[in-house]
Amino acid sequence: MRKFAVLAAGCSTLAVLVGFGAGRAWFTLTPAQLDAARAPAAAEELTTGTIAARWPTPGGVPAGSSNGATPAPTIQPARATVDPAIGAKPAALPAPAPAPVRQAQACSNPNALGISRTVEIDTAGGPGLGMSQYRDYDFLQPGEVALTFDDGPWPVNTPAVLAALAAQCVKAVFFPVGKHASWHPAILKQVIAAGHTVGSHTWSHVNLASKPFAEAKGEIEKGISGVVQAAGQPTAPFFRFPQLRQTPELKAYLGERNVATFSIDVDSEDFRIHKPDQLVAGVMAKLKKAGKGILLMHDFQKSTAQAMPELLAQLKAGGYKIVFITAKDRVTTLPEYDAQVAPAQPVASTAKPIANVIRTVD
Ligand SMILES: [Zn+2]
Repeated sequence: MRKFAVLAAGCSTLAVLVGFGAGRAWFTLTPAQLDAARAPAAAEELTTGTIAARWPTPGGVPAGSSNGATPAPTIQPARATVDPAIGAKPAALPAPAPAPVRQAQACSNPNALGISRTVEIDTAGGPGLGMSQYRDYDFLQPGEVALTFDDGPWPVNTPAVLAALAAQCVKAVFFPVGKHASWHPAILKQVIAAGHTVGSHTWSHVNLASKPFAEAKGEIEKGISGVVQAAGQPTAPFFRFPQLRQTPELKAYLGERNVATFSIDVDSEDFRIHKPDQLVAGVMAKLKKAGKGILLMHDFQKSTAQAMPELLAQLKAGGYKIVFITAKDRVTTLPEYDAQVAPAQPVASTAKPIANVIRTVD
């Protein structure tokens, strides 16, 4: 196991440990595979190392425990510039489209937790949000919590999360994996229909920091295209790196695409805590310590789906306020990547009318 290094502790309530070294992350995310690759108990602090360790590797070794050469996540300024040596600046990127006017949805539960305020992010230039990696926009007030869910959409678990959120009249940001969205478009449409914000989280959840730039860019773009295609409408220009592993070049590329990058403040560690009561207790303890923050959870995880009703109840009892994050504009997709994720079209038939080929003669 490689050592962790403390990279940031500027916030008085937040210390961040970043893991070095990781094997290649494998990406086909079935609960059984996650179970098989479950990381050992980690420190109680936020660690991208522990986030990395949750992903299986081809050899079955937790990613965070290998001595691979993958660079660790680094703290980036929110508006990095493209390295001219990379030549990454895409030509004639489409301009973002404005988001539709949101309709207020009635809440039928008078005792619901509810949303205390809704914020709108102008993603021009690709701001970074989440104090564990980005320090430019400390927009949450003490006691404010933003709920985020990664890795869906997934049968049973995502609908259960949606039901719990609806019961308490709260909304969240979802970061679906493009491939999962292509498998379960109807569930993603449920997320959209419920009024939540939907970003993206790559096509197949690989560690982008371990990939050549062009391949990593393709993962980002295919993820966006796949989610938009499954959603049936443009989604928010919000993105989260798998395992929070980024590179300066990729962060700069997202800036060129006017896509905001989301990091985290509080990690639920729902990838390893599988008893709902323990998950709730852990999140509440971390929130008490941090005081506020963007909370990372996974609608992919059964434990999270089971824990949500009690977690939301305890957030209300604890006096926390839910902040709903929305985007000013919609994300644009690139046609080349739309084509790559489009379902194969049936080949046009060249068959003649059946009567021209087959006739009854006797
Ligand atoms: Zn993820």
